[in-house]
Amino acid sequence: MTDSPRIHLGSLLRSSEDAHAEGELTELTYEQGGVEQTLSFAQPAYFEVDINHLGGQEMYLQGTFEPTLVMECARCLREVHVPLDLKLGTLMRYDPSAEVPHLEEAETGEEMLMFGDPNLDLSAYLAETTLLAAPLSVLHAPECKGLCQVCGHDLNEGPCEHMAQVPVEEIDDELGVPEGTVHAKQNPFTALQGLKLPED
Ligand SMILES: [Zn+2]
Ligand SMILES: [Zn+2]
Repeated sequence: MTDSPRIHLGSLLRSSEDAHAEGELTELTYEQGGVEQTLSFAQPAYFEVDINHLGGQEMYLQGTFEPTLVMECARCLREVHVPLDLKLGTLMRYDPSAEVPHLEEAETGEEMLMFGDPNLDLSAYLAETTLLAAPLSVLHAPECKGLCQVCGHDLNEGPCEHMAQVPVEEIDDELGVPEGTVHAKQNPFTALQGLKLPED
Protein backbone atom coordinates (compact mmCIF):
# COMPACT_ATOMS: atom_id res chain seq x y z
CA MET A 1 0.00 0.00 0.00
CA THR A 2 1.53 3.29 -1.04
CA ASP A 3 -1.46 5.61 -0.53
CA SER A 4 -0.87 8.50 1.81
CA PRO A 5 -2.37 8.23 5.26
CA ARG A 6 -5.41 10.50 5.18
CA ILE A 7 -8.10 11.37 7.63
CA HIS A 8 -11.32 13.06 6.60
CA LEU A 9 -12.21 15.95 8.84
CA GLY A 10 -15.15 17.42 6.89
CA SER A 11 -17.83 16.21 9.30
CA LEU A 12 -15.67 17.04 12.30
CA LEU A 13 -15.45 20.64 11.11
CA ARG A 14 -19.18 20.77 10.24
CA SER A 15 -20.71 18.97 13.20
CA SER A 16 -17.93 18.31 15.75
CA GLU A 17 -18.02 14.59 15.03
CA ASP A 18 -14.85 12.83 16.12
CA ALA A 19 -12.73 11.29 13.38
CA HIS A 20 -10.78 8.06 13.26
CA ALA A 21 -8.36 6.58 10.76
CA GLU A 22 -6.09 3.57 10.72
CA GLY A 23 -4.09 1.61 8.22
CA GLU A 24 -0.70 0.28 7.23
CA LEU A 25 2.07 2.13 5.42
CA THR A 26 5.04 0.73 3.58
CA GLU A 27 6.46 4.20 3.06
CA LEU A 28 5.79 7.86 3.60
CA THR A 29 6.23 10.44 0.88
CA TYR A 30 6.34 14.00 2.09
CA GLU A 31 7.75 17.37 1.21
CA GLN A 32 10.57 19.02 3.06
CA GLY A 33 11.78 22.41 1.94
CA GLY A 34 10.11 21.89 -1.43
CA VAL A 35 11.90 18.58 -2.01
CA GLU A 36 10.02 15.30 -2.09
CA GLN A 37 11.36 12.81 0.46
CA THR A 38 10.53 9.17 1.01
CA LEU A 39 10.80 7.24 4.24
CA SER A 40 10.65 3.46 3.66
CA PHE A 41 9.74 0.90 6.28
CA ALA A 42 11.02 -2.66 6.57
CA GLN A 43 7.49 -3.97 7.02
CA PRO A 44 3.99 -2.49 6.85
CA ALA A 45 3.76 0.13 9.60
CA TYR A 46 0.47 0.27 11.47
CA PHE A 47 -0.98 3.64 12.40
CA GLU A 48 -4.09 4.62 14.27
CA VAL A 49 -5.29 8.17 14.79
CA ASP A 50 -8.25 9.71 16.63
CA ILE A 51 -9.13 13.35 16.33
CA ASN A 52 -11.42 15.12 18.79
CA HIS A 53 -12.94 18.51 18.27
CA LEU A 54 -11.95 21.06 20.91
CA GLY A 55 -14.13 23.88 19.62
CA GLY A 56 -13.75 26.46 16.90
CA GLN A 57 -11.08 25.47 14.43
CA GLU A 58 -9.07 23.50 16.97
CA MET A 59 -8.84 19.81 17.64
CA TYR A 60 -6.60 17.27 19.30
CA LEU A 61 -4.97 14.33 17.58
CA GLN A 62 -3.87 11.23 19.44
CA GLY A 63 -2.83 7.83 18.28
CA THR A 64 -0.05 5.36 17.72
CA PHE A 65 2.38 4.63 14.91
CA GLU A 66 4.64 1.58 14.69
CA PRO A 67 7.16 2.01 11.90
CA THR A 68 10.21 -0.22 11.46
CA LEU A 69 12.92 2.03 10.09
CA VAL A 70 15.63 0.79 7.77
CA MET A 71 18.97 2.21 8.91
CA GLU A 72 22.65 1.38 8.34
CA CYS A 73 25.00 -0.08 10.94
CA ALA A 74 27.33 2.79 11.87
CA ARG A 75 30.40 0.51 11.61
CA CYS A 76 29.80 -1.99 8.82
CA LEU A 77 26.93 -0.30 6.92
CA ARG A 78 24.75 -3.40 6.75
CA GLU A 79 20.99 -2.90 6.95
CA VAL A 80 19.54 -2.66 10.43
CA HIS A 81 15.82 -2.69 11.21
CA VAL A 82 14.82 -0.33 13.99
CA PRO A 83 11.27 -0.88 15.28
CA LEU A 84 9.67 2.19 16.88
CA ASP A 85 6.52 2.36 18.95
CA LEU A 86 5.39 5.96 18.78
CA LYS A 87 2.70 7.71 20.77
CA LEU A 88 1.13 10.52 18.80
CA GLY A 89 -0.34 13.61 20.34
CA THR A 90 -0.70 17.12 19.01
CA LEU A 91 -3.01 20.08 18.90
CA MET A 92 -4.33 20.88 15.45
CA ARG A 93 -5.85 23.92 13.82
CA TYR A 94 -7.81 24.20 10.61
CA ASP A 95 -6.55 27.21 8.66
CA PRO A 96 -7.67 27.39 5.02
CA SER A 97 -4.57 29.43 4.18
CA ALA A 98 -2.21 26.56 5.15
CA GLU A 99 -1.18 25.08 1.81
CA VAL A 100 0.56 22.00 3.21
CA PRO A 101 0.05 20.51 6.66
CA HIS A 102 2.90 21.62 8.92
CA LEU A 103 3.82 21.98 12.56
CA GLU A 104 3.93 25.51 13.86
CA GLU A 105 4.38 27.09 17.25
CA ALA A 106 1.07 28.52 18.41
CA GLU A 107 0.66 31.77 20.42
CA THR A 108 0.55 29.61 23.56
CA GLY A 109 4.01 28.21 22.74
CA GLU A 110 2.62 24.77 22.01
CA GLU A 111 3.26 22.97 18.75
CA MET A 112 0.27 22.84 16.52
CA LEU A 113 -0.41 20.94 13.32
CA MET A 114 -1.79 23.51 10.86
CA PHE A 115 -3.76 22.25 7.88
CA GLY A 116 -5.94 23.78 5.18
CA ASP A 117 -7.44 20.71 3.49
CA PRO A 118 -10.16 18.89 5.50
CA ASN A 119 -9.00 15.73 3.71
CA LEU A 120 -5.86 15.84 5.84
CA ASP A 121 -2.71 14.11 4.64
CA LEU A 122 -0.82 12.90 7.72
CA SER A 123 2.38 11.98 5.82
CA ALA A 124 4.51 14.95 6.87
CA TYR A 125 3.38 14.77 10.48
CA LEU A 126 4.06 11.02 10.76
CA ALA A 127 7.42 11.37 9.00
CA GLU A 128 8.54 14.20 11.28
CA THR A 129 7.44 12.33 14.40
CA THR A 130 9.32 9.23 13.21
CA LEU A 131 12.53 11.11 12.43
CA LEU A 132 12.50 12.88 15.80
CA ALA A 133 12.23 9.54 17.60
CA ALA A 134 14.79 7.67 15.49
CA PRO A 135 18.24 7.02 17.00
CA LEU A 136 21.08 9.00 15.44
CA SER A 137 23.11 5.86 14.83
CA VAL A 138 22.73 2.13 15.36
CA LEU A 139 24.94 -0.97 15.39
CA HIS A 140 23.76 -4.22 13.81
CA ALA A 141 25.25 -5.99 16.85
CA PRO A 142 27.08 -4.57 19.89
CA GLU A 143 30.23 -6.48 18.94
CA CYS A 144 30.25 -5.39 15.28
CA LYS A 145 33.87 -5.36 14.07
CA GLY A 146 33.28 -2.82 11.31
CA LEU A 147 35.03 -2.50 7.99
CA CYS A 148 38.77 -2.60 7.27
CA GLN A 149 39.96 0.98 6.96
CA VAL A 150 42.26 0.03 4.09
CA CYS A 151 40.21 -2.23 1.81
CA GLY A 152 36.68 -1.94 3.17
CA HIS A 153 36.41 -5.66 3.88
CA ASP A 154 33.66 -6.55 6.37
CA LEU A 155 35.69 -7.76 9.36
CA ASN A 156 32.62 -9.55 10.77
CA GLU A 157 33.19 -12.09 8.01
CA GLY A 158 36.78 -12.69 9.04
CA PRO A 159 40.11 -10.86 9.01
CA CYS A 160 41.71 -9.44 5.89
CA GLU A 161 45.39 -9.07 5.00
CA HIS A 162 45.55 -5.60 6.55
CA MET A 163 44.59 -6.70 10.05
CA ALA A 164 48.22 -7.19 11.07
CA GLN A 165 49.19 -3.69 9.91
CA VAL A 166 46.69 -1.86 12.09
CA PRO A 167 47.58 -1.92 15.79
CA VAL A 168 44.86 -3.59 17.85
CA GLU A 169 44.64 -0.69 20.32
CA GLU A 170 43.91 1.74 17.54
CA ILE A 171 41.00 -0.25 16.16
CA ASP A 172 39.53 -0.93 19.55
CA ASP A 173 39.78 2.69 20.67
CA GLU A 174 38.01 3.90 17.63
CA LEU A 175 35.22 1.37 17.87
CA GLY A 176 34.76 1.91 21.56
CA VAL A 177 35.21 -1.73 22.53
CA PRO A 178 34.95 -1.94 26.31
CA GLU A 179 38.20 -1.97 28.23
CA GLY A 180 39.23 -5.42 29.23
CA THR A 181 38.90 -6.88 25.76
CA VAL A 182 42.12 -5.16 24.83
CA HIS A 183 43.82 -5.89 28.10
CA ALA A 184 42.98 -9.57 28.04
CA LYS A 185 44.59 -9.86 24.64
CA GLN A 186 47.69 -7.91 25.61
CA ASN A 187 48.22 -9.21 29.12
CA PRO A 188 51.42 -11.29 28.93
CA PHE A 189 50.19 -13.53 31.75
CA THR A 190 47.27 -14.69 29.64
CA ALA A 191 49.79 -16.21 27.27
CA LEU A 192 51.74 -17.76 30.13
CA GLN A 193 48.70 -19.59 31.40
CA GLY A 194 48.68 -21.76 28.32
CA LEU A 195 52.38 -22.42 28.59
CA LYS A 196 53.49 -25.81 29.89
CA LEU A 197 56.63 -25.55 31.94
CA PRO A 198 59.01 -28.51 31.92
CA GLU A 199 58.45 -30.78 34.92
CA ASP A 200 62.06 -30.89 36.01
ZN1 LIG B 1 27.74 -3.76 11.83
ZN1 LIG C 1 41.71 -4.88 4.56
